[in-house]
Amino acid sequence: MYRTHTCGALNIQDTGKEVTLAGWVQTIRKFGAITFVDLRDRYGITQLLFGEALNRELEMHPIGREYVLQAKGVVSERSNKNLNLPTGEIEVNVTSFTILNASATPPFTIQDDTDGGDDLRMKYRYLDLRRNMVKRNLELRYAVSRSARNYLHENGFMDIETPFLIKSTPEGARDFVVPSRMNTGQFYALPQSPQTFKQLLMVSGYDRYYQIVKCFRDEDLRADRQPEFTQIDCEMSFVEQKDILDMFEGLIKRIFKDVKGIDYTAAIEKISWDDAMWHYGNDKPDTRFNMQVANLKVPPHVFSDRRHTIPQTAIGASGFKVFQDAETILAIAVPGCSAYSRKQTDELTEWVKRPQIGMKGLVFIKYDTDGSIKSSIDKFFSPEQLKVIADAVKARPSDLILILAGDEERTRKAVSELRLEMGKRLGLRKENEFRLLWVLDFPLFEYDADQNRWVARHHPFTSPKPSDIDTMIHHSPVIKDPAKYLEHPYAVIKANAYDMVLNGNEIGGGSIRIFQRDLQEKMFSALGMSKEEAQYKFGFLLGAFEYGAPPHGGIAFGFDRLCAILGGSESIRDFIAFPKNNSGRDVMLDAPATIDEHQLAELSIGIRKEIK
Ligand code: ASP
Repeated sequence: MYRTHTCGALNIQDTGKEVTLAGWVQTIRKFGAITFVDLRDRYGITQLLFGEALNRELEMHPIGREYVLQAKGVVSERSNKNLNLPTGEIEVNVTSFTILNASATPPFTIQDDTDGGDDLRMKYRYLDLRRNMVKRNLELRYAVSRSARNYLHENGFMDIETPFLIKSTPEGARDFVVPSRMNTGQFYALPQSPQTFKQLLMVSGYDRYYQIVKCFRDEDLRADRQPEFTQIDCEMSFVEQKDILDMFEGLIKRIFKDVKGIDYTAAIEKISWDDAMWHYGNDKPDTRFNMQVANLKVPPHVFSDRRHTIPQTAIGASGFKVFQDAETILAIAVPGCSAYSRKQTDELTEWVKRPQIGMKGLVFIKYDTDGSIKSSIDKFFSPEQLKVIADAVKARPSDLILILAGDEERTRKAVSELRLEMGKRLGLRKENEFRLLWVLDFPLFEYDADQNRWVARHHPFTSPKPSDIDTMIHHSPVIKDPAKYLEHPYAVIKANAYDMVLNGNEIGGGSIRIFQRDLQEKMFSALGMSKEEAQYKFGFLLGAFEYGAPPHGGIAFGFDRLCAILGGSESIRDFIAFPKNNSGRDVMLDAPATIDEHQLAELSIGIRKEIK
């Protein structure tokens, strides 16, 4: 037997017991004729004491960091206790030991506070995984998956695997493709998600499906994305939107309870996509803090049923060209910052001018505690006019009002970023506070200017809101004047789709699906697909819809992201055992890599010279 206990098991109650431990050498401390060794495994650290006799033996058979050691001995009470460790009141008085394996000197120290940089730790990920922090992250990941599985099982969901080698039907991200040796010149694709399979399972009658499953998307990797990532993928039959929201509100609350011990008793708030964009500039708002956006000016057609929050005369008649020419003017009132210095406001201006934000400038109004108002646009606006703006922004004395002006899309995005940044600077985005939100009623379509056509905002299997189906059926998708695409009836069609948002991150999204062949065909044609193309790509699904497809809908959660947020980290990589780097490389395996001529020949594949 290699061990009687793990390195995390022994405590003061075990004093006097004869034990055998096995693990890795964390530290060696020599004090004259005796040596202390901290022995580590997955479960903890136990101090070993090598007395005089064994110390001599140790000198003959020296050990080093990360050696694999087996030690027999007797548990005894420590004189110098470490009450921060569960095993900190005892040590094992070693009577004999065996070096099970030696170790080269590790390239970085295997401690919470490591000296290893990111690349080095990724190259030696198997050593990095020995570190407590990384281990805790993987334990959290396992706890989340266990909790999800338990909940879904208790609610009648069945875990069904779906294939990884499928057909390429890119409708969103790019597919990873896999050449087939047995079918020369033909390719599989790796699934971007099991979307169509889970829908087919509904047609087959498996009315509650789930899978914790890898998805593959060959996208340019924006910050903190992985080319392969994991979803908690779910689908249900005979459901309406409310049934899905209730079921998965239950799931996330269960995860909070099981993993974090948090009783999230409040109902998850719901907000429409329109409201989210209007009040936060963003469809995944962080609602841990308020600081809502004031819409001082918006172009016609966008949010057509809404009004500016200010009479346009108040901002138009000033002679201030920036406001007059701008398509959109948006503002936030930042609490308690009216005393910002010139240096601070200059810094904020630089912040919004950074290429990632892309604004030309920033206008300030300082609404002082004594009620007086100063601004960077005093030349154009009287104090009375500034007060009208301050009121429209719902500012209070001591607030700093920040105003952005420009084209609609960029300005809305910028105000959202600015709001988040100010929330962060003011400490309003608290790490240990969790705020969930459902965002509902997304637009069904998005206009793709490059292709001058509509694309599905979610995916092409999402159903329109019942009240919008007629609009979709009775209008042609053709856009005659691209500049006026917002006037096309498709621009306002809403989808029966929903996202779950946690602290400003989309953690899940799904929809009620189309389940009738006619409507699905109409959807494909709205997306510019010919009948033949739709048949070639999705004939199997259209066919299945002829054999009694039930009404159905589902959702998928971004499992890696959910774990990262629950673990208080910005990076999903910390929660994946063997992640890729930002260029999609596995630096440990050194993949992707070339394959040899023989493999290429078997696949009948040649590499184009100009690329080589
Ligand atoms: N398959 C979808 C996705 O990956 C989620 C869903 O609609 O269930 O985004």
